Amino acid sequence: MSNSYVLVINSGSSSLKFAVIDSQSGDALVSGLGECFGLPEAEISWKYQGEKTVEAIPAGGNHHQYAVNRVVSLLETLGLTSQFVAVGHRIVAGGETFKGTVKVDEAVIEEVERLAELAPLHNKANATGMRAAMAAFPNLPQFAVFDTAFHQTMPPKAFIYGLPYELYEEQKVRRYGAHGTSHYYVSREAAKMLDKPVEQSNFITVHLGNGASVTAIKNGECVDTSMGLTPLAGLMMGTRCGDIDPSVIEFLFRKGWQQDELFDMLNKKSGFLGVSGVTSDARGVLEAMEKGNPRARLAFEIFTYRVAKYIGSYMVAIGEEVDAIVFTGGIGENSLPIRSEILNYLKVFGYQEDAKANADARFGQSGVITAKDSKLAVVIPTNEEFVIAQQSVAML
Ligand code: ADP
Repeated sequence: MSNSYVLVINSGSSSLKFAVIDSQSGDALVSGLGECFGLPEAEISWKYQGEKTVEAIPAGGNHHQYAVNRVVSLLETLGLTSQFVAVGHRIVAGGETFKGTVKVDEAVIEEVERLAELAPLHNKANATGMRAAMAAFPNLPQFAVFDTAFHQTMPPKAFIYGLPYELYEEQKVRRYGAHGTSHYYVSREAAKMLDKPVEQSNFITVHLGNGASVTAIKNGECVDTSMGLTPLAGLMMGTRCGDIDPSVIEFLFRKGWQQDELFDMLNKKSGFLGVSGVTSDARGVLEAMEKGNPRARLAFEIFTYRVAKYIGSYMVAIGEEVDAIVFTGGIGENSLPIRSEILNYLKVFGYQEDAKANADARFGQSGVITAKDSKLAVVIPTNEEFVIAQQSVAML
């Protein structure tokens, strides 16, 4: 048995990703995904030795709980339960309590549950995942890796809102950010690509997936990030609105909207979906745009314009030469037209796209996407599971 494999569990709001990963190479023995939890089409699938299996999840009950139990029985059937030395969990909100990776015990799980007020759908699922895995593997050490931890180095001017200060002191209302594990990973990989020590490197990392965020990294540390108290802030996303005037909420309340309806709209019916009226999926929006749908084009324009504006403002946050802009996430890794449009806005800062290089950097490929005499932008596929495996083994 190798002593470097880790079972990584990443519970999303309606999904669960899992993998048994080599913390040295990042290779997975088995990896899988449970998705559409709570819906009739809920299913779980996995890849093992090159073969993919898909299984329906029965209706009813807690699908997160079901999925963890199914992962455990699957690992038993495949004879893999003795192959890993730790379990690593991805946790979305760590508040100010968790500034780094910690060993999981009941007190940690309870604090994660308490912090669910910052990420209701995610943290509850994360706690379910930790409890189920603790019951299934009582003799293995388990670790919690927090999405917010990398952002804990932000200075107060970046994380305090212009609200009465007591709201921060008493209620801990502040910017926490999200996607920290991804921003951490791609900044480390970018430093390797540039052959520069990460603690002497400045990056603007741009994670564009269903959720999307931008982070300013100075000397290897986060100095600002676009998500806020919750992952609703900043960029426009698949279904989330990103930054809006808070008075929109008051305005709609006065029009008779109910609280749940309002927050459901901001979280699940806005963004690409709300603006385009077509889909939350970037590919679908781009296809509709190519067919001439004007609202799909508008969604594309809002999205790219806002990403570019955030990048511009993070030049100020860093205040020194930026070594590279780093694109990642499903859209950042794959979408040629979206990266191209963002780089077009950034010409003013000396960025010039290399169209061929941009077209080549897709489907898991890392690469430079700017021209020779341009300032540097690169694509680096993210790998949050690998970071979770590495940090878990480092804690052993
Ligand atoms: P999550 O935030 O759920 O982890 P991902 O990082 O997987 O999401 O990103 C999902 C997004 O990536 C979707 O909007 C999807 O359309 C987009 N995407 C994936 N492949 C492509 C592609 N080839 N071109 C454009 N967008 C893509």
